Amino acid sequence: MTKQTKANIATLLLVFLLFTNTLVLMAQTQTEASLNEKIAKEESENSQIMRTLHFFTDVYGPRLTGSPNHKAAADWAIKQMKSWGLDNVHPEAWNFGHPGWVNERASGFITSPVQNSLVFEVLAWTPGTNGTVSGGAIQVVLPERATADELSSYFETVRDKIKGKMVLIGKPAVVPVTIVPPPKRISDDDLRSRFNPDSKPTPSPTPAPTPARKPGQLTPAQVNEQLDKFLLDNGAAVRINDAGREHGQIRAFNNRSFDVEKVVPTIVLRNEDYGRISRLLGDGLNVELEFNIKNRSFPEGATSYNVIGELQGTDKKDEVIMLGGHLDSWHAATGATDNAIGCAVMMEALRLLKAIGVRPRRTIRVALWSGEEEGLLGSQAYVKEHFGSFENPKPEFFKFGGYFNIDSGTGRARGMTVFGPAEDAIILREALGPFASLGVAGAINTRNRGLGGSDHTSFNQAGLPGIGVQQDPIEYFTHTWHTNLDTYERVIEDDAEKSAIVIAAAVYKLAMKEELLPRFKTAEMPPLPTPSPTPTPGSAPPAPKTAM
Ligand SMILES: [Zn+2]
Repeated sequence: MTKQTKANIATLLLVFLLFTNTLVLMAQTQTEASLNEKIAKEESENSQIMRTLHFFTDVYGPRLTGSPNHKAAADWAIKQMKSWGLDNVHPEAWNFGHPGWVNERASGFITSPVQNSLVFEVLAWTPGTNGTVSGGAIQVVLPERATADELSSYFETVRDKIKGKMVLIGKPAVVPVTIVPPPKRISDDDLRSRFNPDSKPTPSPTPAPTPARKPGQLTPAQVNEQLDKFLLDNGAAVRINDAGREHGQIRAFNNRSFDVEKVVPTIVLRNEDYGRISRLLGDGLNVELEFNIKNRSFPEGATSYNVIGELQGTDKKDEVIMLGGHLDSWHAATGATDNAIGCAVMMEALRLLKAIGVRPRRTIRVALWSGEEEGLLGSQAYVKEHFGSFENPKPEFFKFGGYFNIDSGTGRARGMTVFGPAEDAIILREALGPFASLGVAGAINTRNRGLGGSDHTSFNQAGLPGIGVQQDPIEYFTHTWHTNLDTYERVIEDDAEKSAIVIAAAVYKLAMKEELLPRFKTAEMPPLPTPSPTPTPGSAPPAPKTAM
């Protein structure tokens, strides 16, 4: 063979290789494009999202952790996922440690000097009124930044006025009119800067400096606990908190002790009624109120459940990609945007993959958490049980390829934040690339292992790749989040469907890649944030308000 012939053969071979490589790439892109088309087609023709939402909200809502409603919703989800042909569908118990609680009915009226109905919600884990109670309203305004001594001196000045009374706590909040409402969708400019491929990893936030406390000053939780004890000891009929929000919005959380024996019946009254009663009292008038509240406790609620369902993998089936949201809700409405819709979207994403008949290499597992609103409890229990943590790993820790979480209302997915090195964001950005036309901008990474926000941070904290889906806010932070307005009507079906399509495709991509998402190398793993100061024994558990 001449030199020339050898060179010709080599050139031909190179051309052939380049050609076949291009063909393989084109085939991959085509396969991906046709897969994405199949996902979108299945969603547009057979979406189950609004049906799932209807069951979680109208039929079973609200779904407070430990309540029979939550349990019934979880059981329905199990039945539903089984009927879709998903694998290994089951509940996983974890110890909540508090009884379940439900408000069955509540009515309240101002009976003098005018007659009118009141708009309020009952604080969770508080007792009912045991029939109709009526009494005069009084307002107590606690000293600010009080020490134990200052608080008890104040209590002495009002002690003999409490018995049988409807006690308003503090002056009404002045809620200014919102002149410029925040935008309902993330603007293109904002989106570009948030998910810029060149954006630096988010630095772990430096904790805000704790405001200087005067010597002996009680924490708000301690003040609250002592106030509850004072009202109980002195026979108050009902404790009335101000909702402090505009347009009749009410957020009712919980008695932090979770113990109905430790507090009097407690309600959160809409700011408009609270203000009216306060102004009437300010006129020196005698204001009479009447309430009838029926609550029930359920000891079996001390054990709560996460719901798990899978699409089993093939050659890498012992490796897992997860997706999920929390099924529990607060109780003032039916918990539609927080977070029935998130659960409906994540169940749908898995249903889509099952329905189009793909066989992922890794197992894809959906989780519907409980205990999120009380402090991400269900997801933390799950991560601890299955994966352990970077500092104390279990075997499954090394087989885990990412957890997608959605928990910011009805708005469509616009981008993702992943805990891990910068390569993780590149991989996710590539997975999301085909969905630019649906408004998805991309992904960034974070190094923050702090717990808070929502359930993906339970994974981040353990050093695992939690992936938070960023969404258009729509009315979440202004109207529906944790409020009495969080109902089925506030969900935008088209947005939820787009989220399900995008998440199904992204999850599938991670389930098919040769390698798991890269993790921080041992030397680069960010340290756990320093824990906040240990609460004083007997003080309330951490406020749940950080949970989305
Ligand atoms: Zn939430």
